[in-house]
Amino acid sequence: MGKGIFSENRISLQYKKTKKQIDKAIFETIKNGNFILGENVKKIEEKIANLVGTEYAIGVNSGTDALFLSLKALGIKNGDEVITTPFSFIATAEAIANTGAKPIFVDIDPKTFNIDVLKIKRAITKRTKAIIPVHLYGQMADMKEIIKIAKKHKLFVIEDAAQAIGAKQKINGKWEMAGGVGHIGCFSFFPTKNLGAFGDGGMITINDRKLAGEIKLLRNHGATKKYYHEILGVSSRLDELQAAILLAKFSYLNTWDKKRHNVAKFYDKNLRNVGDIILPELLKNNYHIYHQYTIRTKHRDALKDFLEKNGVPTAIHYPLSLHLQPLFKNLGYKQGICPEVEKASKEVLSLPIYPELSLNEQKFVIKAIKKFFEKQ
Ligand SMILES: *Cc1c(COP(=O)(O)O)cnc(C)c1O
Repeated sequence: MGKGIFSENRISLQYKKTKKQIDKAIFETIKNGNFILGENVKKIEEKIANLVGTEYAIGVNSGTDALFLSLKALGIKNGDEVITTPFSFIATAEAIANTGAKPIFVDIDPKTFNIDVLKIKRAITKRTKAIIPVHLYGQMADMKEIIKIAKKHKLFVIEDAAQAIGAKQKINGKWEMAGGVGHIGCFSFFPTKNLGAFGDGGMITINDRKLAGEIKLLRNHGATKKYYHEILGVSSRLDELQAAILLAKFSYLNTWDKKRHNVAKFYDKNLRNVGDIILPELLKNNYHIYHQYTIRTKHRDALKDFLEKNGVPTAIHYPLSLHLQPLFKNLGYKQGICPEVEKASKEVLSLPIYPELSLNEQKFVIKAIKKFFEKQ
């Protein structure tokens, strides 16, 4: 992090507040001596299944593996196509490509930065097997419409809910949780996520019993019991130490959520009508969890530099659309196929937002932004 008042690492700040529970959880696990697929994993799986409202939750090594194993379990392979958004972390498209299938990128709705549901239909071909909407920044994609399209065309829906644990959406009058609407939900416990481990971790949420069984085999070498391997799997388990840490943190999730909301509201209030800033759009019938607070401005690069020089750390999510990443150059995506993403990637800027962010720090951020625009 830059100089200025943001001197302390936010993860160590959070640790200070939860130290007692976390230390206890870690040492009890060590004392127990069971580090792989034990009680902690089972307990955090139950907590997440409860939260999301699915029959099963299956701990895996990362959010990336959650996506990959979900696609594998659905039988998605070479020759298939999977529709997704190019305005996401690489993992979303990477998981698709790693199965041998081709990611088909659909442009975003510039208001929400989520996949534009009106453009999904024209991307569907005979090869399409699934849609992976990403609930970007903590607000859900339009799941009602996505489910409708998927039903009509017999497609699977895998929600990339890595940034959206606890987010919800009112669908047909009922609140539905992120990760619980599609056939499968994928979560990440990467340290900077709203529920972060002290290392990698991920979770798959699912209702289908057969598929859940398949995923449990896949994550653990395809083993039905020790040294008996039914299918070709991988080694991708959530480990007991990470699960212990997640359990200790889980009870804070609600409180942290509220704090993020307060931060977001304060930005909303104080950045309205500042320069050409476009604030994040909160859609009705949605509960946003503000994993990121991302504004838009035509002066993004200059603003980012200015803030950095003034000790305010910011980030760009994401600077290069996935269809333009060098890794995909042999798949033949053309510049211009997702114009809204290409535009957004030059204008978005994520401001500091986390539960421990103090009011003074936030005022400092706002003051610096206002100062920048006074000079424009
Ligand atoms: C973080 C993230 C992932 C990957 O999660 P890891 O646990 O880091 O593998 C996938 N998709 C999105 C949208 C993410 O933000």
